[in-house]
Amino acid sequence: LAAYLARVERLEPQLHAFIRLNPRALEEARRVEGRLAAGEALPLAGVPVALKDNICTRGLETTCASRVLASFVPPYDATVVERLRQAGAVVLGKTNMDEFAMGSSTEYSAFGPTRNPWDPERVPGGTSGGSAAAVAADLAPVALGTDTGGSVRQPAAFCGVYGFKPTYGRISRYGVVATASSLDQVGTLARTVADLALLTDVVSGPDPRDSTSLEAEPRFAQALGAPVGGLTVGVIKEALAEGNSPGVLEALERFRAVMEGRGVRFVEVSVPTLRYALAAYYIVNTAEISSNLARYDGTLYGLRVPGEDSVETMMRTREKGFGPEARRRILMGTFVLSAGYYAAYYGRALRARARLKADMEAAFAQADLLLTPTSPTPAFRLGEKTGDPLAMYLADVDTVAVNLVGLPAMSLPAGFEGALPVGLQLVAPPLRDELLFSLAQAFE
Ligand code: GLN
Repeated sequence: LAAYLARVERLEPQLHAFIRLNPRALEEARRVEGRLAAGEALPLAGVPVALKDNICTRGLETTCASRVLASFVPPYDATVVERLRQAGAVVLGKTNMDEFAMGSSTEYSAFGPTRNPWDPERVPGGTSGGSAAAVAADLAPVALGTDTGGSVRQPAAFCGVYGFKPTYGRISRYGVVATASSLDQVGTLARTVADLALLTDVVSGPDPRDSTSLEAEPRFAQALGAPVGGLTVGVIKEALAEGNSPGVLEALERFRAVMEGRGVRFVEVSVPTLRYALAAYYIVNTAEISSNLARYDGTLYGLRVPGEDSVETMMRTREKGFGPEARRRILMGTFVLSAGYYAAYYGRALRARARLKADMEAAFAQADLLLTPTSPTPAFRLGEKTGDPLAMYLADVDTVAVNLVGLPAMSLPAGFEGALPVGLQLVAPPLRDELLFSLAQAFE
């Protein structure tokens, strides 16, 4: 922990991966030493973990990188944090993110952007950009993020680390601030598949406090070293149709060559409704955001800007508290759910979601796993997309379908374009998450 703290002190001023460090980290590490001495078996004894700032930590601010929660101190730990502490891990700090996990670059943080450790002029990806940058720069060996539409996988790809999003329900959402509840999952980030498995084993598994939690025991470390010969990988042809940069296509070819050498078979599969995924995602996502963010009204949480009466207090608080992207999504979500437009937008998006699920099932009838780029390009420049919300949304074209269907997926580092890392995305059928770890390790 001391070594990591020294590294943070040296590199954090350039990177800004953290919103705040845990002032009690050393003290907590000493308590872990005591537990070890008393003979407790602690799989993550003393391991510093970086946590995205939308994961509640008791007694330590949790702001979602928003002014509206700037002073919010949770009275309890999220289930994932409780499990980390039980395993002996130490919370190193809370990482930077796009406000309320809306964005693709970590530039929509109310506290300033994070920089990509490979090139400070570029974004680390988002919305878990702080977690990905922290792991890539070795400010922490492992980190947690959240993934609503790619927010763990895309920054993992941009920063050259592993990023995993489980089957919806395998990691508890209790104590994780809701963005879009039917899409949100906590995800894990690490520099090696073995570290990723160890961390994922600790944080996943059934939780009675999350009603969408699944009864599936974690077996991630056991999946390491499993034979992969005979598996079939389906390359989704619609994901390769256009817009991918040369380094991304090269990484795909290289992955294929290496894995064919290990006995993996490759086939081309089609997911025709993939082209509607982004549109459906941004309707479902904004609809749920407009509902979830209604609670920030100056009454219960964080910021309160008093007005003449309660309505004015609410208006002033929300006007001061929310940044431009949060406002845009609340407005869009309110619109797509409004009487008269609900059927044309929200209802249609739900139908597209159902068809996408059927298409994915058909693809899995032909292949054990699916393969796409994680993102069509490597990390883009700071400021490149902030003026154009639609360009920013397009950065998620490869990742959002996975969340709409609730599938498990992993981004793995698979090459470089110039000096910038490139990631590939593997997708597994529901509850076959462990297969991703077997295949990723065989490539590693
Ligand atoms: N970039 C996507 C969005 O802005 C995904 C965000 C996320 O996964 N939290 O909605």
